[in-house]
Amino acid sequence: MAHKVTLIPGDGVGPEIARAARRVIDASGVNIEWEVVETGEALIPRYGTPLPEYVLESIRRNRVALKGPITTPVGGGFRSVNVTLRQELNLYANVRPARTMPGINTRYQNVDLVVVRENTEDLYAGIEHRVGDDAAESIKIITRRASERIVRFAFDLARKQGRKKVTAVHKANIMKLTDGLFLECARKVAGEYPDIVFEDMIVDAMCMKLVQSPENYDVLVLPNLYGDIVSDLCAGLVGGLGIAPGANIGRDVAVFEPVHGSAPKHAGKNRINPLAMILSGVMMLQHLGENEPAERIYSAVLAVLREGKTLTYDLGGSASTSEMADAIISKMQ
Ligand code: NAD
Repeated sequence: MAHKVTLIPGDGVGPEIARAARRVIDASGVNIEWEVVETGEALIPRYGTPLPEYVLESIRRNRVALKGPITTPVGGGFRSVNVTLRQELNLYANVRPARTMPGINTRYQNVDLVVVRENTEDLYAGIEHRVGDDAAESIKIITRRASERIVRFAFDLARKQGRKKVTAVHKANIMKLTDGLFLECARKVAGEYPDIVFEDMIVDAMCMKLVQSPENYDVLVLPNLYGDIVSDLCAGLVGGLGIAPGANIGRDVAVFEPVHGSAPKHAGKNRINPLAMILSGVMMLQHLGENEPAERIYSAVLAVLREGKTLTYDLGGSASTSEMADAIISKMQ
């Protein structure tokens, strides 16, 4: 039976990486019926919003979506479609694995960690206002419910993936009430998982330790903003945004998307790395229980990287987006 999946190409480089990922996934043998829905700024004249209701309806109906990046105006304009989607669909857990891959030239070996980022609150609640002309205020929301839920998610993921340690990352020395509550919840939930080592770390120290010895970390769990920043750092440890996949998981639905954004300066040039999107597709197939096609794609990606002949510019090669997808498809045949 076919899986119905919502495909959101997004904008900027989104459509080209979505096309590449769709071709690779279809070639893996899995039976997927794609429902393609458009989003973004271009829709505003027609629908009055960059996120028309039909997008949310499609995801709610199909329960699974593969999504390309969507541009957010800086400093003004409409609210981030990405943040709105996560909040509207209650996609409370953002999962971003960072793993050393063969053939990718990086400073580190043996990195294999997962960043679990709380996705619905913190400074991303979007509650900010100007105080007169010369000041502005943003409100940081941390709740017991969301904190316990995300830490439990991180421990469950650790158990499921056979991982040994969860590190809760915070700044509770300064934000004693907000991050203090997050840490209190993390310690409480950790008590329910005696089989998994728990530690906590202040976010600045965490960044230093990650660049010194990333192989010492396994699962990191963080409030929203630190999670956003630290997950890009972790992507940098293993080869950059071009290879960093992600998933937004809720109780009822899941949306899979690369960590990177719409990279507007590369849009339409067929040169961006499609791997982050393809590997997000692999995570999606695992979520759907399609482990064989997922493994087939992952092995083909590793084979292309090991061979080192068809790599995009960010990995030191000169292959195009579509050539890299072709190379992965040919390794599956
Ligand atoms: P970005 O991730 O789009 O790009 C930053 C740089 O990283 C690019 O210029 C490029 O050099 C490199 N890069 C990114 N993806 C790559 C890939 N697949 N292959 C090779 N190199 C790659 O970040 P930005 O420029 O800060 O953001 C652009 C827009 O994307 C903004 O509007 C931002 O709000 C949005 N954004 C969207 C999402 C999302 O949809 N989930 C996430 C992050 C940023």
